[in-house]
Amino acid sequence: MSGVNEIRSTFLQYFAKNGHEPVASSPLVPRNDPTLMFTNAGMVQFKNVFTGLEKRDYTRATTAQKVVRAGGKHNDLDNVGFTARHHTFFEMLGNFSFGDYFKEEAISLAWNLVTKEFALDKSRLLVTVYSEDEEAARLWKSIAGFSDDKIIRIPTSDNFWTMGETGPCGPCSEIFYDQGESVWGGPPGSAEEDGDRFLEFWNLVFMQFEQVSPGERVALPRPSIDTGMGLERIAAILQGVTSNYEIDLFRRLIAAVEEAIGSRAEGDALASHRVIADHLRATAFLIADGVLPSNEGRGYVLRRIMRRAMRHAKLLGAREPVLFKLLPTLVSEMGRAYPELVRAEALISETLKLEEKRFLTTLDRGLILLNEASQDLAHGDSLDGEVAFKLYDTYGFPLDLTQDALRARGVGVDLSSFQSAMERQKAEARASWVGSGEAAAETVWFAIREREGATEFLGYDTEAAEAEV
Ligand code: ATP
Ligand code: MG
Ligand code: MG
Ligand code: MG
Repeated sequence: MSGVNEIRSTFLQYFAKNGHEPVASSPLVPRNDPTLMFTNAGMVQFKNVFTGLEKRDYTRATTAQKVVRAGGKHNDLDNVGFTARHHTFFEMLGNFSFGDYFKEEAISLAWNLVTKEFALDKSRLLVTVYSEDEEAARLWKSIAGFSDDKIIRIPTSDNFWTMGETGPCGPCSEIFYDQGESVWGGPPGSAEEDGDRFLEFWNLVFMQFEQVSPGERVALPRPSIDTGMGLERIAAILQGVTSNYEIDLFRRLIAAVEEAIGSRAEGDALASHRVIADHLRATAFLIADGVLPSNEGRGYVLRRIMRRAMRHAKLLGAREPVLFKLLPTLVSEMGRAYPELVRAEALISETLKLEEKRFLTTLDRGLILLNEASQDLAHGDSLDGEVAFKLYDTYGFPLDLTQDALRARGVGVDLSSFQSAMERQKAEARASWVGSGEAAAETVWFAIREREGATEFLGYDTEAAEAEV
């Protein structure tokens, strides 16, 4: 059975053997791209190569890319702990052709890797293609020998990739693995597609058009390839487990959580262990790439992730900072592949400890308020937004932490009263500063919040403004 480190190497070596330049992962904070909160796919570092703005001395590349999907177009934060296949931080393995090979070779390379190197059982594999992409369907038939029922035609944007409103775009084809009847879910395109039985593990994007303007699409003279395979998902398949959280790496991280807290990863406590292991990785890698917890933008997303992990640790019985104790396990698992983790270990550890200390007292008091305010609520009810706002404003509970805390009981948060409480607070803050005439109202607001300390900015505005990539 191969561990994640071995699987990563197998992938990179396979593509290197096939003429691809191994390129290091780019940082989680995209360089020169203020429109994007975090690197959310392997192609991000090659954007300008695909559009032709930038030239490299190779036309084929392969990477294991660090990715965070906790904001913007791809936000899997709320899936973590609830699906078997989503993380906030994960590794995306990819191969890229910059005007070199196209559809036929991309499919052949993928099929060969999956069925020969990884030796997956062909009868469990199936693919999707964009409904208008007859060429891809025909190639899958001839290369993989698939019958029609193994090639699912999807007419939605799920199978048509775009970089933005304009720019390169094209159909994509995804490879799925059937994990068997014991796992709930249906094939892609069916009503039960959100289940985990049919596990999507590889997306092949065929960049063959350019969207010149909203109404005009032309064929690219030299089409390109961009693929992304989730390392944790292929590891689950190869290790014969039905959840990413049961692969070697996560088993060791979860064992570290059990040891640090004195808890057991079973029954109702399982999800909390998974969330903590997941969020620890996101936290450590974000800090290693220069993000620190703060009240806005990227730093606020990090703070939200850290605080969610802390609430789950609390739920498991932790009474003092524990997350920093998990770090050595993570570094020993992933430090060889990502030396920045080793370099930043002390900083990550200190940041975790400090943030945990700061939050633990207000977390306690906030949870008491939350429990009192929600004890009579039943499945389908909503918590008063005023309470959620007080938790946010006084106790430092990001809104999504409150939502996460109530979700297991099927209770939501009334967002409109939350928003009005927020607006009212802002208006009051502005009013109390009328006449100072020096700073813009917003700056003043920030100053007040800084002074008062416990307040968090939502950070959602920043995300909404983020361009879709
Ligand atoms: P899903 O439909 O499962 O949310 P996706 O279609 O959003 O996945 P892509 O954008 O196609 O994912 O990304 C390429 C690959 O990256 C996926 O096929 C999958 O293997 C992996 N992947 C995507 N999101 C996650 C995640 N949150 N955690 C772990 N792996 C992921
Ligand atoms: Mg997704
Ligand atoms: Mg998908
Ligand atoms: Mg996909």
